[in-house]
Amino acid sequence: MKRIDLRSDTVTQPTPEMRKAMAQAATGDDVYGEDPSVNALEQRVAELTGKEAGLLCASGTQSNLIALLSHCQRGDEYLVGEEYHTYRYEAGGAAVLGGIVPQTLAIDTDGTVALAALESKIKAKDPHFPRTRLIALENTHTGKVMPTGYTASVRALADRKGLQVHLDGARLFNAHIATGEAISSLCAPMDSVSICFSKGLGTPIGSVLVGSEALIAQGRRWRKMLGGGMRQAGIIAAAMDFALDHHVERLQQDHEHAQRLALGLADIEGIQVEPVQTNMVYLNFSDPNQATNVHRSLKERGILVPNAARMRLVTHLDVSAGDVEQVVASFRELLVSKRT
Ligand SMILES: *Cc1c(COP(=O)(O)O)cnc(C)c1O
Repeated sequence: MKRIDLRSDTVTQPTPEMRKAMAQAATGDDVYGEDPSVNALEQRVAELTGKEAGLLCASGTQSNLIALLSHCQRGDEYLVGEEYHTYRYEAGGAAVLGGIVPQTLAIDTDGTVALAALESKIKAKDPHFPRTRLIALENTHTGKVMPTGYTASVRALADRKGLQVHLDGARLFNAHIATGEAISSLCAPMDSVSICFSKGLGTPIGSVLVGSEALIAQGRRWRKMLGGGMRQAGIIAAAMDFALDHHVERLQQDHEHAQRLALGLADIEGIQVEPVQTNMVYLNFSDPNQATNVHRSLKERGILVPNAARMRLVTHLDVSAGDVEQVVASFRELLVSKRT
């Protein structure tokens, strides 16, 4: 039985063509700075994002952590949405390993943190307070694209208050495809950006952190300390380079599949479907038990979805148009039969 896995866009398998590119990669010792594929990839992503330098990281979590450690000292504070990955899903790394204080803030329905809320939490210079140093944003957040006007306003606030801005752009390419805005303009208001290649871009491993030469030099040191200094990492860089050539434009298909999925599920009783912008569909079940039953029954049919009353379905490289039709048909069968 073929499996259709909608739990995340991290589940994609490297394609035969990508594996071939990996097998043929020129390599060297990247800790010595001698891996030509890594050096070229770091430079390519720096240019694409309009930043001075790039750093290959093992994961998005590592890349975000390196950014936070490079921007902030012990006792510094970062302002962050309470559901953003850098606070909620990275095991508290910034606090545990960096002594960096998180100031969390509520997230609005569009995925942003209100400017007034950000400003209200910036601390005055006073020995009682942590030193506010950084604002951490996320684009896309739960599949939502951060409005351009908003990021420009955050930049202006940061400049006025002498703060840095980091973007967790794990799915920035989805924002690029959804809006048509250049990656460099999405990155322009940011001091640093972390981009994942193992999500929609479909590589097995790899993220890149970009920023100024000085920040990335700091970051290189932290990466070594965190055990992220890899050797013949050109094998990974080759997959990432391949993804930039072949897997960016195709994100449009994932977005169309997500729209199709949302449309197909919209009129099912007991489920409310949230508006879709990129590759994520959120379903809200009025009855949590029904969500559990759907999760279980779909699994028996080879369709993997989370067991949650707010159920996230993610489209990706390994989900075809036919798969989407099959998923919609299965939901309809299950929920129709449940109602009778
Ligand atoms: C996946 C993800 C990351 C990084 O996750 P890794 O699994 O460590 O690569 C960071 N931010 C967001 C928003 C993500 O979805």
